[in-house]
Amino acid sequence: VANYKGELYNLPFNMNTFAKMWGIVTPAEAAAKIEEQRQKAHITEPKNLEEQAISLIGTDIYTKLIKGYTEKQWGRNCTDLPAFIIKRLPVRYTFDNNYFDDRYQGIPIVGYNGLIDALLEGIEVRTGIDYNKERSSYLDIARKVVYTGPIDEYFGYRLGHLEYRGLRFETERLEEVNHQGVAVMNYTDRETPYTRVIEHKHFEFGTQPVTYITREYPSEWHSGEEAYYPVNDDKNQALYKQYARLAGHERNVIFGGRLAEYKYYDMDDVIESALTVAKKEI
Ligand code: UDP
Repeated sequence: VANYKGELYNLPFNMNTFAKMWGIVTPAEAAAKIEEQRQKAHITEPKNLEEQAISLIGTDIYTKLIKGYTEKQWGRNCTDLPAFIIKRLPVRYTFDNNYFDDRYQGIPIVGYNGLIDALLEGIEVRTGIDYNKERSSYLDIARKVVYTGPIDEYFGYRLGHLEYRGLRFETERLEEVNHQGVAVMNYTDRETPYTRVIEHKHFEFGTQPVTYITREYPSEWHSGEEAYYPVNDDKNQALYKQYARLAGHERNVIFGGRLAEYKYYDMDDVIESALTVAKKEI
């Protein structure tokens, strides 16, 4: 659910969103409204995120549900961001509030901690180690290494720094059963400093008498901090390509995941990609 200054809209964009925004009823009316706003904006070939968004869902939705959220999230103007970021958000002319179109959807029972714990059962795990600093001492442990850290860090930033977006989480226990009635509430205005509030129990409906919420604050990222999002604009993408070329020469290292492939992967995509690589290797 998106919260724009107290107005609530369903996400991702669908007939529920359009009906609330414009008071329309049918898909044809929604399409007409979007077409009208698209024509007014005179966009033929979208060159950036703003133009892509307006040509996809019109000016009203762009202004209330995309502009503020996106500028907070990425710390950049929508006119300076690549169009593809917004292409991951579906637009539907049906009353379907699901995020994804996939036939099977869900998250692991007991969450991702349970999944990772099971994958690593019986395997030695060391944390708090800077792999890149102690790489030589690991060389003999295995024939192959899977590296999931930032690719530029692996190469000692020798071609320059890639940019990432950071994130700060603020978690709070609240003495109430149900705080926001939904797992994710997006705050799409520019002024609220966080982008979204997660109420964890709604992912796997809990019967606990209290609840935990987490506010997500997007932040500028500095070298040495945990990187969350790659910034896939042209400049960074070009630099990544050069690093990827270097990575191609590292015979015994497999580079995988959001940071090592500098790619804005969803969870299902990253798992699929890992399985594909594993199949090839094994
Ligand atoms: N987005 C937006 N308004 C929203 C939610 C998403 O404009 O209420 C845009 C924003 O640019 C964001 C992108 O869609 O970066 C992808 O959002 P998603 O929630 O899929 O990203 P996540 O942070 O979960 O990877």
